[in-house]
Amino acid sequence: MTIPLVELSFDGNELRYVEDCVKTSWISSQGSYVKKFEKLFADYHDIPYASAVSNGTAALHLALVALNIKAGDEVIVPSFTFASSVNTILFCNATPVFVEIDEESWNIDPTKIEEKITERTKAIMPVHMYGQPCNMEPILHIAKKHKLFVIEDCAEALGARVMGKRVGTLGDIGCFSFFANKTITTGEGGMTITHDEKISERINLLRDHGMSPKERYWHTAIGFNYRITNLQSAVGVAQMERIDEIVTHRNAVGNRYHKNLAGIPGLTLSPLLKWSERTYWFYAILIDPQKFGMDRQELMKRLSEQGIETRKMSYALHSLPLYAAWKVSLPITEKICGQGISLPMGNKLSLDKVDKICKAIRMQAAQNSE
Ligand SMILES: *Cc1c(COP(=O)(O)O)cnc(C)c1O
Repeated sequence: MTIPLVELSFDGNELRYVEDCVKTSWISSQGSYVKKFEKLFADYHDIPYASAVSNGTAALHLALVALNIKAGDEVIVPSFTFASSVNTILFCNATPVFVEIDEESWNIDPTKIEEKITERTKAIMPVHMYGQPCNMEPILHIAKKHKLFVIEDCAEALGARVMGKRVGTLGDIGCFSFFANKTITTGEGGMTITHDEKISERINLLRDHGMSPKERYWHTAIGFNYRITNLQSAVGVAQMERIDEIVTHRNAVGNRYHKNLAGIPGLTLSPLLKWSERTYWFYAILIDPQKFGMDRQELMKRLSEQGIETRKMSYALHSLPLYAAWKVSLPITEKICGQGISLPMGNKLSLDKVDKICKAIRMQAAQNSE
């Protein structure tokens, strides 16, 4: 038996709604499922405005452009994130300013933000990594004090809560991804949410070629084609109909990993913090090679031999030659990126399989301490 890193399930109305699109020929972005998807997503977040877009990267890019982030501006961002958080800042010709993360949450360290603020700083982009919300209270306080925008990258954290609110609703704009390995998927897709009507109108204009919604071919901004299709939205509607069930299951999987993997020397569990209600993208662990007895590469190889697919964490972006111009020293980021492994997750992944994975990991640890 092999256990893939991501197990997808489409056992709701996905097929029925897609069939509806095809049968009625409403397949492009002009179709009723787009609006339905946005409405369900906005209602879930108890927020007035949601704009469905072609992917999570497009959501981030639109957020930055809608807030007029431009050449010469600086945006504060962690280096422990997916590349598009940083790339979209660079799309705007703005400068990413990398800030260290903390060992508690693996997210941007609020105590290290202020020292990086200059007169050019325009925004902070907290990224809720692996489903763990950032410590938003001090971040929002700093943003208010220095009059900075807050763009939340929620691509990995749909459904998580902090300060009693869902992630994406605390800052100016929340951005989500519906790529295949995210909490809900539309194949490719994304969403922005905001409390601000003007920002929402700006995003809607920019995602549709900057063309006036009132007059066709009257362009008022240099926009993009970042629209989502009705076909994708049909899948999204079906997924949102089951969002509570999906988040509950992912949390049950995460809790099971957490319980089963506790107390293994050299293995650090995913953060589980009292001040937030996290969810799980993948369940991530850190392997300290000295204390665990082997490095993560060896552990991943041994798990793979037993049919268990895992993935090493992404590289710390500031350490990639591509981003050498913005290089800084971030030891905690480097440590976590260098030791991290993502374990399988899925909206239908059985707890039996989780037990099997945990047992396989524990066996390796035990073998090495003998
Ligand atoms: C997946 C992801 C994105 C990008 O989403 P796409 O839909 O793949 O463009 C952005 N930020 C983070 C943190 C992600 O995990």
